[in-house]
Amino acid sequence: MEDLLTTTREKLPPRIEGLADLAYNLWWSWRQEARELFRTLDYPLWRATGHNPVRILREIPQERLEEAARDPGFLRQFDAVTLAFERDLTDGHLWFPKVYPHLTDRPVAYCSAEFGLHRSLPIYSGGLGVLAGDHAKEASDLGVPFFGVGFLYSQGYFCQRLPSHGWQEAIYPPLQMEDTPLRPVMDPQGQQVRVGVRLARREVQAALWEVQVGRVRLFLLDTNLPENEPWDRTLTARLYGGDREMRISQEIVLGIGGVRAVRALGLNPAIWHLNEGHCAFLVLERIRELVAQGWSFEKAAEAVRATTVFTTHTPVPAGHDAFSLPMVEKHFQGYWEELGLTREAFLELGRLGGDFNMTALALRFSDYRNGVSRLHGEVSRRMWQTLWPDRPEAEVPIVHITNGVHLPSWISGPLGRLFRKYLGHDWQERHDDPDLWERLDDVPDEELWALHEDQKRKMMAFIRERARRRRISGEMDPDQVLAAGAFLDPEALTIGFARRFATYKRATLLFHDLERLKRIVHDLYRPVQFIFAGKAHPADDAAKHLLQQVYNLAKDPALGGRVAFIEDYDMHVARYLVQGVDIWLNTPRPPREASGTSGQKAAMNGAINLSVLDGWWREGYNGANGWAIESLEGGDEAAQDAHDAEALYRLLEEEVVPLFYKRDADGVPRDWVRVMKEAVRSTAPFFCTRRMVREYTEQFYVPAIEAARQRGV
Ligand SMILES: *Cc1c(COP(=O)(O)O)cnc(C)c1O
Repeated sequence: MEDLLTTTREKLPPRIEGLADLAYNLWWSWRQEARELFRTLDYPLWRATGHNPVRILREIPQERLEEAARDPGFLRQFDAVTLAFERDLTDGHLWFPKVYPHLTDRPVAYCSAEFGLHRSLPIYSGGLGVLAGDHAKEASDLGVPFFGVGFLYSQGYFCQRLPSHGWQEAIYPPLQMEDTPLRPVMDPQGQQVRVGVRLARREVQAALWEVQVGRVRLFLLDTNLPENEPWDRTLTARLYGGDREMRISQEIVLGIGGVRAVRALGLNPAIWHLNEGHCAFLVLERIRELVAQGWSFEKAAEAVRATTVFTTHTPVPAGHDAFSLPMVEKHFQGYWEELGLTREAFLELGRLGGDFNMTALALRFSDYRNGVSRLHGEVSRRMWQTLWPDRPEAEVPIVHITNGVHLPSWISGPLGRLFRKYLGHDWQERHDDPDLWERLDDVPDEELWALHEDQKRKMMAFIRERARRRRISGEMDPDQVLAAGAFLDPEALTIGFARRFATYKRATLLFHDLERLKRIVHDLYRPVQFIFAGKAHPADDAAKHLLQQVYNLAKDPALGGRVAFIEDYDMHVARYLVQGVDIWLNTPRPPREASGTSGQKAAMNGAINLSVLDGWWREGYNGANGWAIESLEGGDEAAQDAHDAEALYRLLEEEVVPLFYKRDADGVPRDWVRVMKEAVRSTAPFFCTRRMVREYTEQFYVPAIEAARQRGV
């Protein structure tokens, strides 16, 4: 199999052949100077490829490369980036090896059904995946010995198309492998490494791919192989597609195949971190391995528990995967004997009510368990108390580690340069130090405001350009141009609402009283506009109805082009929105938002949160860094919606809009900028993955590495 990294390197002039290594490591995506390097190399291609260095290097004319290799300015830039790259890839100066030099030899294996790293690798659907991607990037930055295991979805999640009637269509463009930084994992014989997993009465093969994320390697399983049955080839085709049978088969391949992949690679992790229950079957496979070495089931189970971390992500009961007992039995026939168990004892391992529950399995076989915000920790202890019936709720052994976002990936380039100027050249290395951010006071209001307005114009240019391209290609009717945001006003107060269209997120709450909303958006002197984006799960018709409602309102001239819907929400769109809007709106039905990380991305960029006190905002809101929508808890849903909508309108009318339009003689909204600064100051050092991965390391990884040592696993 051809290694495209080598081919790419061979095409490049020797002086800059290192560009290939940069393109094939996603490190470039969160290092501003590396992004600028590829942008400088070929700006039109940078834009046309949607920021994809692998494609840029393939499509760039040879003359342009030769020119760059002779251009002293470019070479200076290239050398600086290469130096930073090499420095980051060796670990001497990084946090983990400095603090735990004796613990660097055994890595953490992090298993997740999705990873959101960059739009060029569409193997994520939403927050869970983006969190996993951000975790991997931060592990690289901190020097935590760490690798990831996941799936290579050959058709990704899906691309969203909105026809004029607004009923979302899902299209699945096949992943063009050569457009991604993926490389096959090869064995010494030059074959792609494969692992086999038993499903019901057959064996399925999965091939291994690898993508480099800074220092971190991410391994992806792929069943789309000629030797597999046609149905099995589609197991890794789509994220969250298919029926229960597909789902359990996927989870067996991910969990059990994941362990076998790690063994085939010769890696020897001390700890296994399960990101959500989808990969929980891996605990069974690890027990099986130990039993095969002569351990008793009990002793093996205890050792596996002591070295397993489990993060649960949803407070919604239906969000926890469960399979019927006969379905589990069918696939694990014969497997229980290898664990030294009877059929009944085996089914008990994941038993909850009448089903085999993946979260219950994971909770029973991990000693380190957490929810993803303080509130979600509480909700999880309540939800799962049934597993610890003899303990009071407060002592249910599930703690919380609040989610964060990878700051270097989400901060806009210009804002990063502003921080560098006022916080110091080492601001990025120190960004989880709250003291550093006190210096934000030194940033002149005018400068921050001008930068923000610039980011807002860039976002609108991006939105207009998308609308233009869709319209001229004939894929968009004229009446959709209004909804696509082509006529957004860069001066108006702009509010973003972008997330998955799950019903609990209540995307239509804003439209509860349409007449009142019209008065708000149409105010001649103080106009307000809204930008929506988000995908509904293809099988969730209720969510698709909500989306359609929002879309039809966006198309309605009665709302004056002041409500836009941006098609095909992904990390690329998310970056523009969180960096460009004035307000980030979130209206979940509490307590169903486990964390909600998009608001963290927004706040760090100075986009102010206006949100229900749910998820991270319950601990992030401090009275001065944004607005809290008080929700009516405990009533019926209709009453809650009416109450919460009223609270939202009141905040908009009485606080948000007046503050935004209160300008000084220079046109700067000083009081607004004060809230922006407070938003950044109070979120950047706390709601970042730097703080989060350190907490995972200190509370979970380090004790688990010690436990692995003691137990000899
Ligand atoms: C950050 C992010 C999310 C998570 O947002 P929530 O606030 O949890 O809804 C989802 N999708 C994308 C593309 C993101 O970048």
